Amino acid sequence: MSSKLSKYLPCSYVKKQFEKIAFFHSKWINANEIDKLHLWFFKALGYFKKVYSFNDDYEISICVFDSVNDAQEAINRRLSETALVIPYADEQEALIICFSPALNTKNNDQNRMIRQFLHEICHIATSIEKGYTRELGNKENCLPTWLDEAIAEYYSSIVFDNTNKINDSIEYYKINDIPLDVDNLFDSYLTPKIKDINEYKYVLGMVSYYIRQNNVSVWKFEKTINELIRKFT
Ligand SMILES: [Zn+2]
Repeated sequence: MSSKLSKYLPCSYVKKQFEKIAFFHSKWINANEIDKLHLWFFKALGYFKKVYSFNDDYEISICVFDSVNDAQEAINRRLSETALVIPYADEQEALIICFSPALNTKNNDQNRMIRQFLHEICHIATSIEKGYTRELGNKENCLPTWLDEAIAEYYSSIVFDNTNKINDSIEYYKINDIPLDVDNLFDSYLTPKIKDINEYKYVLGMVSYYIRQNNVSVWKFEKTINELIRKFT
């Protein structure tokens, strides 16, 4: 593991390696929970690979926290215990942070976690495809957050067969004319603000619509992305 990743990990945490996927976790977390999370992550990656290519040499580390404070200290950010965050990703390696199912009981839900992990894998794929380094707090060369989130949501929904959500949001985009402040759609939890949930639906619909219109099956859609960014800058 590189020093870029290790700076986000508490030194007291232990490591469990599953082939290319390394889990770092508090020693107080039950081993079964880590095995369970690994299985779900592995399933999510499998779903992704059925549809898109993903380099098998890519190194993914996952840090499972059992304390919101520890995680906040590690990434120097406010977090809720429902959060999944990628503090670092480049073209070779990535780190994902999540919370133990004991701390956040929602993380006991297999479908939810596979869905969430898929969303994060889509973020990693975007970093790889666009050739940029994703690092918390550094927006240089990155896509705007609203676009990055909509792309991850679009592709993870398609892979996980949740096309209803995408179709609904496209309909919503088509029939509504919402004045947008898209840069403010996401707060520091990196999740949509509740009051802006309709704007988020609108943005997801718009990005999905553009991706479909251009018949883009992978992330290589520079023209579409530039068009979308121009709309809001
Ligand atoms: Zn996201």
